[in-house]
Amino acid sequence: MKKRRFRPRGSRPDHSNREDREGHHDHGRKRGWPGRHDGRERQHGHGSSGREGRQGREAADFWSRLLVPGEANDFLEKSPCPACGQIPARILGRLGPTLLRKCRACSLLYVSPRLATSVREEMLRREPAPLASERNLTLRHKMAEHMERMNREMPKAHGLNKRSATLLEVGCRWGHFLQLCRPHYRSVEGLEWSKERAAFARERFDLQVAATDIFRDPWEGRYNVIAAWDVMEREAHPAEFLKWVHDHLEPGGQLLLSTPNYRSISRRLLRKRWSYFEPSRHLCYFTPGTLTALLRKAGFHDVVVKTSGLSLFRDWFSGFNRVDRDQDAREQWLENLRSRETIESSRKEGTAGLGHETAFQKAGKRVGAFLSGLVTAPGWGDQMRVYARRS
Ligand SMILES: [Zn+2]
Repeated sequence: MKKRRFRPRGSRPDHSNREDREGHHDHGRKRGWPGRHDGRERQHGHGSSGREGRQGREAADFWSRLLVPGEANDFLEKSPCPACGQIPARILGRLGPTLLRKCRACSLLYVSPRLATSVREEMLRREPAPLASERNLTLRHKMAEHMERMNREMPKAHGLNKRSATLLEVGCRWGHFLQLCRPHYRSVEGLEWSKERAAFARERFDLQVAATDIFRDPWEGRYNVIAAWDVMEREAHPAEFLKWVHDHLEPGGQLLLSTPNYRSISRRLLRKRWSYFEPSRHLCYFTPGTLTALLRKAGFHDVVVKTSGLSLFRDWFSGFNRVDRDQDAREQWLENLRSRETIESSRKEGTAGLGHETAFQKAGKRVGAFLSGLVTAPGWGDQMRVYARRS
């Protein structure tokens, strides 16, 4: 195996050469990676301590095996710009096993090479079990926040009468958002790629959720409102996705979506430690500008972009951004598993989530919300919420 030293960005101006080489994972030989076969043989791999259960260890082993670099890797695939299909791109830097690129034609930010579809599907199947519970407080909290903001922002934007409206959520996961929305709409439906999650939503919440892949299976329905929370950044075909949504909205219908904001102040200050950098799951990164352009191209009007959230402070306290996303992709996954485990255990003790906070925590939250509102006012929040209308 020929040794090649990792060179910093900018030292190789020849991009065409770089494109050729990217499949060979020279970055994989950086310090800190295990050998190519290590991960397969190690049963209790690096980072998974005895406190984790057997399930946790299995999951951790899966991630470390998945992210072991080397020629035997077939989990990465090269990708052109997911929005316009063009290949020429400026390389902005490395993110774990991938490179962050900016399309020269449409300015979209995307990762290539990216995890192969089959691998991403397998990762979804292996999500830690605690997430699949009707009490999943992390998600419920987030969805309640989405709904609260949506109630505040959407009518101002377009004055839609909800009580007579039909709602579809694409990528509805376990159905927590639909369950919150059900009392306020004439009907709510969900589409979910994962069979397990869709079955959960149907059985536990008695929701109308179909397990389907919108690009593979035809879908007939038309709706007044379509919501897609945190879907865009995971889409391998964001432009086609928006076209699909446009075609399934009634005339005058409303699209709501959320996605990380690449222009956020947290991303600029935290750089590679920004927690929304998840090269294995997030394939695209949007700015208000690139997202608006994509929506207009898909036929949407009245595009309104709001941003909120300041993970900068939150992450200082919770240590969520300890992992450098440029350094070690395997460590990112272990960190994700650990933080989910922490959330789950604190939930059991009744300290996390809705309505179980000390006065100190409440005061801290209020100060945080104030600062966050101040800083994110110019469009610098971590999350974008976008409202757009079909004419
Ligand atoms: Zn492009």
